Amino acid sequence: MPQLASRIGRAKPSAIMQIAEKAKRLKAEGRDIISFSIGVPNFLPGEHVYEAARNALSHDSGQYGSNRGADAMIDAFLEHIGKLGLTGYGRVNCASGVGAKHVLYNLGEALLDEGDTIAFPTPYWTSYLDIAEIVNAKVELLPCPPEQDYKLTPAQLDAALAKKPRVFLFNNPSNPTGMVYTREEIDALAEVITKYPDTWIITDDIYNKMVFDGVGYHNFVHSRPELKDRVIFVDSLSKTYGMPGWRVGFMAGPESVAQAVVTLNSNHITNIPEIATAAAVAALTGPQDVPQAKCAEFQAKRDQVMEVMNAIPGVVCPRPQGAFYVFPDISSTFGKTHGPTGKAIANDVDFCSVLLEAKGVACVPGSAFGEPRAMRISYTCPTPQLAPGIERIREFFAELA
Ligand code: PMP
Repeated sequence: MPQLASRIGRAKPSAIMQIAEKAKRLKAEGRDIISFSIGVPNFLPGEHVYEAARNALSHDSGQYGSNRGADAMIDAFLEHIGKLGLTGYGRVNCASGVGAKHVLYNLGEALLDEGDTIAFPTPYWTSYLDIAEIVNAKVELLPCPPEQDYKLTPAQLDAALAKKPRVFLFNNPSNPTGMVYTREEIDALAEVITKYPDTWIITDDIYNKMVFDGVGYHNFVHSRPELKDRVIFVDSLSKTYGMPGWRVGFMAGPESVAQAVVTLNSNHITNIPEIATAAAVAALTGPQDVPQAKCAEFQAKRDQVMEVMNAIPGVVCPRPQGAFYVFPDISSTFGKTHGPTGKAIANDVDFCSVLLEAKGVACVPGSAFGEPRAMRISYTCPTPQLAPGIERIREFFAELA
């Protein structure tokens, strides 16, 4: 029997999908399951997006498209990032992909040779590790525990960049923690980055429209515009426009990097589908009331989750200010037993598994994101499920001894 390539052994199936699958199975068995596990938005884009897609369908030329992305879509993206204060970019600085995940894979291939180092903070979005492993890069994890609000400090970044990694990958707002860096914090990190010209900086900022409490979205190039020659901004329609299945992602950065992504596209995918392209133009240039309303809804849901988390003895839960995740430190429960089922909780995986079995609530163990003391609650479920789901978690904590 011939063998699979070694990279397949290194890439692991997503732990998030495993929990989601278990929740699905229990649901099929008739259990009442509330899912806080996968990070999918619970809303649809506005009608104008469907209309644009339908129009594209009826007039679809059906031919291959641009490897970069259609001009109209890239122009719409440029207009969109201009509103985020990311100005001075042209079409040559941009590229699209089949979601931000694909853009990030392309960047991994474009920037990392085998054995090069990519540094990123922990907790991290799960696919970062897999991307590094598939391109055979070395990973340097920068631990950001709950005691420092899951945020990277300038001193940590300084120490990491002094080792000259090829790439530093930064995610703001964060999945899984929901933390958002303030302008002052971004300024301080940008200051450090200016000292180390040999490192590419990728900012995965796909939740940039989901920021609460007036904190605002900030990028290193806002602080230090000269960093535009090595900061690569990554964006997506998945989370903020409620369009995960349409598979549209983008990057804006140095021309050479955009061109490398275009070249990879020409070899991997040719172009993202024409229908998704038309939908993307409509989403980016049309009414913005859906993302705005959702941001307000998520802020209210964050408050609801935090109120309960803060009241549970022993739980440390830094207050998220973006995305749609809460990431409580549940490590005070390790070593306890769940009274009603008699099951022991040794770690985050046990916690989430017994919680799912006993209470029918699916959350993701923090170890999936490199922080085994925590678990991730994704609060995009339908609003009527949120209060009962959180109440079940509260009860579960109360049943541990
Ligand atoms: N980056 C982060 C931080 C994410 O949370 C996700 C999706 N979970 C992605 C990238 C990938 O998004 P897309 O659907 O655009 O591929």
